[in-house]
Amino acid sequence: RVAYVNDEYVSAKDARISIFDRGFLFADAVYEVTAVIGGKLIDFDAHMQRLERSLREIQIPNFWRIEYLRQIHERLIILNDVQEGLIYLQISRGEADRDFAYPPTQTRPTLVLFTQQKSILNASLSAKGLSVIAVEDLRWGRRDIKTVQLLYPSMAKMLARQRGADDAWLCDGDYVTEGTAQNVYIVKNKTLVTRSLSKSILGGITRAAVLKCATGFNIEIAERAFSLAEAKSADEAFSTSATTLVMPVVEIDGCTIGDGLPGPITKNLLTQYIKELVDSRSP
Ligand code: PLP
Repeated sequence: RVAYVNDEYVSAKDARISIFDRGFLFADAVYEVTAVIGGKLIDFDAHMQRLERSLREIQIPNFWRIEYLRQIHERLIILNDVQEGLIYLQISRGEADRDFAYPPTQTRPTLVLFTQQKSILNASLSAKGLSVIAVEDLRWGRRDIKTVQLLYPSMAKMLARQRGADDAWLCDGDYVTEGTAQNVYIVKNKTLVTRSLSKSILGGITRAAVLKCATGFNIEIAERAFSLAEAKSADEAFSTSATTLVMPVVEIDGCTIGDGLPGPITKNLLTQYIKELVDSRSP
């Protein structure tokens, strides 16, 4: 496997960054995960636009044009023969003496990319649906920035696993914010409800695509916060992310959602979304 580190393509097992890298010491870094299906990037421009925004929000200078980043992604797809999977990209503020203050003279940011093979179209869990538990959302207050501080969602996912569930939904008070790495939705009486964008959640690229897809359905769409109680009594529930597409959720805290099977609107959204992906992949 080949990875990319600061201008070089290197064997992934030999890829190295400094112990003084601020990404390593402070989680002072942002990232993107772009899905690859049939050897093609999905929604690449939208992911890179979000990357540019994340960099701006934490004042890491952006030295890379989207077209240049596209070339690296495409080269890695070829070098690693990725048919289905993902490309991970991370930019940290770079290497500097350890200090909370950003380095006074701008360091060179560290750019790292690697690929992972993954089954996306036929994800094993999407036929059955996930069980989730609710966990208090104790992440920081700027969840709209895609930073690499992912310890809390890791802890929440492990807690879910230890309790026999697949994953966790995070709650701010009574209201659900997100999954550990997914936007979340419920369907009740033919209304699709998902939290509106704010600093409390990440603006998912898949969220935008799936909501667009849903406008073609005969359903209402409400962008507002929903409570855990509302979720437990919903007709359907699901989550979205680049590498899990539309993932049904059939159990929340032991409560069965609907009849315990992926719901009809969820399934139709997944089918329609996949159809649009396959029809409109970047050339
Ligand atoms: N919310 C969080 C916290 C995430 O980490 C992610 C993806 O990793 C998402 C939502 C979904 O975003 P996207 O659809 O762009 O993958």
